[in-house]
Amino acid sequence: MGLVSAKEMLVKAHEGHYAVGQFNINNLEWTKEVLLAAQESNSPVILGVSEGAAKYMTGFKTVVGMVSAMVDSLNITVPVALHLDHGSYEGAKACIEAGFSSIMFDGSHYPFEENLAKSKEIIELCHAKNLSIECEVGSIGGEEDGIIGAGEVADANECKIIAELGVDMLAAGIGNIHGKYPENWTGLNFEALAAIEIATNGKPLVLHGGTGIPADQIAKAISLGVSKINVNTDLQLVFAAATREYVEAGKDLSGKGFDPRKLLAPGASAIRAKVNAMMAEFGSANKA
Ligand SMILES: [Zn+2]
Repeated sequence: MGLVSAKEMLVKAHEGHYAVGQFNINNLEWTKEVLLAAQESNSPVILGVSEGAAKYMTGFKTVVGMVSAMVDSLNITVPVALHLDHGSYEGAKACIEAGFSSIMFDGSHYPFEENLAKSKEIIELCHAKNLSIECEVGSIGGEEDGIIGAGEVADANECKIIAELGVDMLAAGIGNIHGKYPENWTGLNFEALAAIEIATNGKPLVLHGGTGIPADQIAKAISLGVSKINVNTDLQLVFAAATREYVEAGKDLSGKGFDPRKLLAPGASAIRAKVNAMMAEFGSANKA
């Protein structure tokens, strides 16, 4: 199966009260292990690519070529969406052209009226090509903003206005934070989440910053309308830890242990195990 829009998988997830994971990819190992985990778990999957990660991989076209070919070569039969993460206005347009199957346009740093106008334009471009589209209201807290214990909370009325443009999924801050959560984090704001779910009339909601949120809060967020959970840092942490263990055990110095196919293998296995575990936690396993 080729790459698909994320719309259908998210509508099903919203109706079925589970969430589909968006796992951000950085290179060949990330892509391969996330795809294999999805197939093992019989789960739909969204591969997230930030503009920075795409640049690292030499460009959007390289990413589309690698992911499409890998879905084919690995005989992946579960639904796979290739999604631009936090796309700029120009980046979104470039990814629509390059062959992504899903786009996030993040206009949250613009004044609301400008976010609205640009979101409307990108939504129309995406729907003309049957691509799914995610927009963002307010902003998501993160390490780069300084550590804020409560994160950011979106305005429910602004969420309603953007949702009514016909967006397929909506990212809104509910106290979630990108990167590692600070010690003083106060948890997800479920009142805000419930208000946004009502205001947007059942639009699939996206939880950014999925690394390190306790399982009970994830489960409650899903029960209140979160249908997509973005995971990035978690996979980086397990990859780094497994690679560190290999090197610290001196395995790169023994035999051909320096061969990248051996050196990167423990990290790759750790990614696959983590993705499988999260698909079980999010409830998307066996929902392909
Ligand atoms: Zn995000």
